Amino acid sequence: MNTNNSIVQKIRFFDRDFFVKRDDLIDKDFSGNKARKLWFYLKNDFKDIQKIISYGSAQSNAMYSLSVLALKKGWEFEYVGNISRYLKQNPTGNYKFALANGMKFYESDDKEEFAKSLQNEHSLYIKEGGANKNAKFGIKKLAVELEKYANGKNFDIFLPSGTGTTALYLSKYSKFDVFTTPCVGDREYLKKQILELESKSLPTILKTSKKYHFGKLYKELYQMHKELKKQTNIEFDLLYDPIGWICIKENLNHFKNPILYIHQGGILGNLSMLQRYAYKYKDEA
Ligand SMILES: *Cc1c(COP(=O)(O)O)cnc(C)c1O
Repeated sequence: MNTNNSIVQKIRFFDRDFFVKRDDLIDKDFSGNKARKLWFYLKNDFKDIQKIISYGSAQSNAMYSLSVLALKKGWEFEYVGNISRYLKQNPTGNYKFALANGMKFYESDDKEEFAKSLQNEHSLYIKEGGANKNAKFGIKKLAVELEKYANGKNFDIFLPSGTGTTALYLSKYSKFDVFTTPCVGDREYLKKQILELESKSLPTILKTSKKYHFGKLYKELYQMHKELKKQTNIEFDLLYDPIGWICIKENLNHFKNPILYIHQGGILGNLSMLQRYAYKYKDEA
C-alpha cells in the first residue's frame, strides 16, 4: 500500500470554497478511512494470526477493505452478513470484489453471535464497520497530515459518520474542531458507538432536518451526488457523503473557519447503489 499523504484539493460548492482531503486516492485497493482504520494491522506483524473474522452488511466498504487486508497478509477472511437474493445472484461492487479476494461469506440472522462463534486462538475479530481501538494509529497519521497542510491556518473538519471511529480519533488527535453527522442510526446511537471506544474529545455531532435510513434510496441523496460530481468533478460515495453535504448545507452557520471535508472513499460501493438508483428512477431520467 502506498503510504504517502493524500492530497488536499480546493473546490467550489454552494458558491463557497471548501477543501477536500482526498483519502479516496490513498490507494486503488485500500483507500479511504478503512485504510486509515486498518493501517495498524497492515503495518505490524501478527505471527499468530491466520484469519480475520467480521460481520455486517454484504455491501459494506469495511468488508471489502478487510478482504484486501487478508489478501495482502495471506490470511483467510470469514464474514457473516445478510444478503438480498438479488445481490447473491448478481454479485457487484464490494461484495463481488471481496469474493474475488477470497472472502468466505456466511449468512446468518444473528451476525454478531455467529461471527463470534468462528473465533479461535489464531483469529483476529473486527467489529462491524471496522470499529476498533487500533484504528487510532492510522487516524492519528491523518491528523498529522492535516496539521501539516494547514501550516498554522485554522480549519473546521467535517466528515460523515457510521460507527464514528474516524471522527472520534480525528477529534482526539487533531487541534481542529471536528464536526460530523450520523448516517447509520440517530445521534444517540452514534454517541453510544463512540462512547464504547472513548469518553473524551468527542466530535461535535450535527443533525440533518430529515432522518435517513442507512442504505435506503432517497432522491435528494442521488441528486446531491450528481450535483457534487457536476460542480466539483469529484466522485463521492452514495451512502455517507450526500448526507454529509446536506448536513453542511443546513448547518453552514455552525462553522467559523473554512471547511475541510474528509473524502473517506467508498467508491466501489457506488456500483451497486447506482444500479439501484438507476432502476428506481429509470422513468424520470
Ligand atoms: C466506513 C465509512 C464511513 C464511516 O466511518 P466510521 O469511522 O465508521 O464513522 C464513512 N464514509 C465512508 C465512505 C466509509 O466507507
